[in-house]
Amino acid sequence: MTTITASQEQHVVDQVPKQLYIGGQWRDGAKGTLSVEDPSTGESLCEVADASVQDATAALDAAVGAGPEFAAMAPRDRGEILRRAFELIVERKEDLALIMTLEMGKTYKESLAEITYAAEFFRWFSEEAVRIDGRYAVAPNGQGRVLTMKQPVGPCLMITPWNFPLAMGTRKIGPAVAAGATMVVKPAQQTPLSMLMLGRILEEAGLPGGVLNIITASSSSEISAPLIADPRLRKLSFTGSTEVGRRLMAQASEGLLRLSMELGGNAPFIVFDDADIDAAVAGAMIAKMRNIGEACTSANRFHVAGAVAEQFAEKLAAKMGAMKLGRGVDEDTEVGPLIDNAQRGKVAELVEDAIGRGAHAVVGGQAVEGAGYFYNPTVLTDVPDDAKLLSEEIFGPVAPVKSFGDEDEAVAAANDTEYGLVAYLFTSDLKRALRVCERLETGMIGLNQGIVSNASAPFGGIKASGFGREGGYEGIEEYLETKYVAINL
Ligand code: NAP
Repeated sequence: MTTITASQEQHVVDQVPKQLYIGGQWRDGAKGTLSVEDPSTGESLCEVADASVQDATAALDAAVGAGPEFAAMAPRDRGEILRRAFELIVERKEDLALIMTLEMGKTYKESLAEITYAAEFFRWFSEEAVRIDGRYAVAPNGQGRVLTMKQPVGPCLMITPWNFPLAMGTRKIGPAVAAGATMVVKPAQQTPLSMLMLGRILEEAGLPGGVLNIITASSSSEISAPLIADPRLRKLSFTGSTEVGRRLMAQASEGLLRLSMELGGNAPFIVFDDADIDAAVAGAMIAKMRNIGEACTSANRFHVAGAVAEQFAEKLAAKMGAMKLGRGVDEDTEVGPLIDNAQRGKVAELVEDAIGRGAHAVVGGQAVEGAGYFYNPTVLTDVPDDAKLLSEEIFGPVAPVKSFGDEDEAVAAANDTEYGLVAYLFTSDLKRALRVCERLETGMIGLNQGIVSNASAPFGGIKASGFGREGGYEGIEEYLETKYVAINL
């Protein structure tokens, strides 16, 4: 990576369309504009359109209007649009990564990794578009026949968070386009730029107007509630916090909407005494520090066998403490800022609570003074059971390490949470690995690895981490309805 200059930063920001994308047209928001900030400086990057309820309704009108024609488009043609968009994303990955770093804070290298991950959903679902099928079966009585067909679910509302500004969009938009469903997308107000760039790319890739509509807004609840209440909407796909997910699910119950809920996590990271400790530390660095700890899949608690807990904590602290903080655009930066002051305040509060109850900071433990929302990578040991960060999502670069006695204790501690998104498990004993995988109450498990994200795999949680799967063969099912025809021969 060569040094990124201020004029390059300005150039990519200038390239982003700043308006609403409705019915294939870019247009202003009726409420004026809202500011997008660089979390590494606290300064405004630019203004984007602020949608009103009328704008949001116009976006749904467009999605409803485009629905029948798009559902009838040849699956191969829908797949080719996704394939072209995949290629355009890859072609423009440098600009997209810079935009993402500026609005979200993560390092340029991490942004490039997210662009690759995000693009993969389009490549995967371009291939899935032509594999939608049904079945024909002889009924058990031998007289009847069972015919099933898959059809697009209809107009969808997709609400995405700020932590993965592009990938959380492509893993919804990709399967919806492949299935032939139309949509209104509302990105997080802190990171709308990546999604607006994606809108432009899909437009260039030939997606018909009205299939994808993007609205940016300063009041998410104000514009989403009327859409959720609109009987023409058929599906809500939400990625974000469990708290907001619960609220949206209650609203969606009125219209009995199809739902996908990708919610918060509290991932346990378990290290048994037979594990390769250096490999476990390397996995922990990814599971904890990817995305500055601001990932739903972030390892939130480290449960380590008593015999190796001290060694593990020391090695992890040495690596985390050596990481260089700075603006994500700077070449040597390894850890960017948190998204805003509120998020940093929450992380600081959780660490203070743990230390107040007797935890010990091996490294870190404080925020960084000055511009931007930086927090020092932190490793805590002697964390008491009642420390809040063991039960709440930290969403920051903080690793609490606790020791356990035996396998039962490790599994019980790992499952002792309302969440169930992902768990990480390090062991060299195959029987133990499979035994523990079966007992863990999560939708995903990283076995001897610190990352699970993969477009070809079903991503999603259980318990308070939600339901529905994004990616894999399962991902397209979220956007399809099954219709059954009873035939009497
Ligand atoms: P959030 O506060 O729940 O916001 C997520 C999205 O919902 C944003 O677009 C937000 O818009 C919108 N929103 C907030 N309140 C709303 C309301 N009352 N009605 C309609 N929309 C509303 O979550 P976040 O802080 O952006 O993201 C972090 C959370 O996402 C974490 O809990 C993380 O674990 C979770 N997450 C889960 C997954 C997964 O796949 N399971 C993946 C990534 C993140 P505004 O920007 O306007 O507030």
